[in-house]
Amino acid sequence: MSSENSSADDMRQVWDVVVVGAGPAGASAAYAAAVAGRRVLLLEKAELPRYKTCGGGIIGPSRDSLPPGFELPLRDRVHAVTFSHNGRFARTRRSRRTLFGLVNRPEFDQQLVEHAQKAGAELRTGVTVQRVEQHGSAVPDRRTVALVLQGGETVLARAVVGADGSASRIGAHVGVKVDQVDLGLEAEIPVPDTVAEDWKGRVLIDWGPMPGSYGWVFPKGDTLTVGVISARGEGAATKRYLEEFIGRLGLAGFEPSISSGHLTRCRAEDSPLSRGRVLVCGDAAGLLEPWTREGISFALRSGRLAGEWAVRVAEAHDAVDARRQALNYAFAVKAGLGVEMSVGKRMLTVFERRPGILHAVLTGFRPAWKAFTDITRGSTTLAEIVRTHPMAHRALSAMDRRQTSPDEQPSS
Ligand SMILES: Cc1cc2nc3c(=O)[nH]c(=O)nc-3n(C[C@H](O)[C@H](O)[C@H](O)COP(=O)(O)OP(=O)(O)OC[C@H]3O[C@@H](n4cnc5c(N)ncnc54)[C@H](O)[C@@H]3O)c2cc1C
Repeated sequence: MSSENSSADDMRQVWDVVVVGAGPAGASAAYAAAVAGRRVLLLEKAELPRYKTCGGGIIGPSRDSLPPGFELPLRDRVHAVTFSHNGRFARTRRSRRTLFGLVNRPEFDQQLVEHAQKAGAELRTGVTVQRVEQHGSAVPDRRTVALVLQGGETVLARAVVGADGSASRIGAHVGVKVDQVDLGLEAEIPVPDTVAEDWKGRVLIDWGPMPGSYGWVFPKGDTLTVGVISARGEGAATKRYLEEFIGRLGLAGFEPSISSGHLTRCRAEDSPLSRGRVLVCGDAAGLLEPWTREGISFALRSGRLAGEWAVRVAEAHDAVDARRQALNYAFAVKAGLGVEMSVGKRMLTVFERRPGILHAVLTGFRPAWKAFTDITRGSTTLAEIVRTHPMAHRALSAMDRRQTSPDEQPSS
């Protein structure tokens, strides 16, 4: 807790940093602020472990952003990928080295929270944050933020990190703007040993029938996570895609243990990442790869940055200083994740129009498969490949140009 507490603080506890939401973004933020020696409170509306609709694919950048000493609770290691295009033209590519790992989210998220707690963060579960106040009667002074919980209790903080997922209340307070919303549907399907053995170490990625859609099978031992994702607004078609996908794979006879859906939202390029003493990260900030909708690494990376910068916001003596620190956070996010998102958006546009080309390139052109393996392992990023490989840069730019109709082109 701050050493220079006001008299109001003497009567009511003021946390240095309060984090809302205990997913990967929130646990990362809480860890980062707690290892910096600050008093941190992590608020979560669910009881832990909680289920999250997610494939649980852990690519290199996610693995590299875990706190020191964190042992991934891997359910499988992926060595092969079968690609198909709406069920046709299936081809499997293999790798001697692990491409990426697969986790069950309840287990993974709980373990991240335990790391934050070990670093000193305090956890409260079963509490829903209803609103944020940075002015008004609930706020004792201008250096304090009030979080009003369901039931009326108020929690005070010098800085708040909103990590409350894609339907974020804190994001609404900050004014997060999104320009892409997708619906993901998933089924957790327990399967007999013979079926599980067939999928062990291998995932399936199917480029789907609706623009920008795709499906996946991620094996987790005795259970397969089978899902699809597509633009929101096509709920019935997305549901049909999942049913047909499951049917085609011969899995329709197995009763799912969980069937669920979840929206993913990508931020608009000019969307804010803070307001006053409140920062947002992860899904709450719309930070997620627009093409693959990979979000765990975005949550871990932005969460850590948010935790680190929230410490400085908490120390800020006035609004100008708090704003400066918050802008530094936004700059750090935009310089890294922002660049990755803008390349991902371009890739999505290409993929929406020409999934067949992408399928052909990935399955038939060795350098493209190599790029895929390098990206999933984390030795490079798509943005880095486009920046440094003239051929990749030229190919994406040519696709961009082809997609810009003459009346959209800038006049000379
Ligand atoms: C179908 C699907 C499959 C996906 N597969 C993958 C994948 O394989 N790999 C990958 O990297 N990404 C994947 N993603 C994306 C990934 O799941 C998210 O990007 C990631 O969970 C974001 O983490 P987060 O911590 O920001 O949010 P979340 O994990 O959503 O955590 C937010 C937390 O905040 C809590 N909360 C919400 N509101 C409140 C409140 N008012 N008060 C208190 N607590 C609150 C919630 O209970 C929750 O625990 C997938 C997404 C979908 C939809």
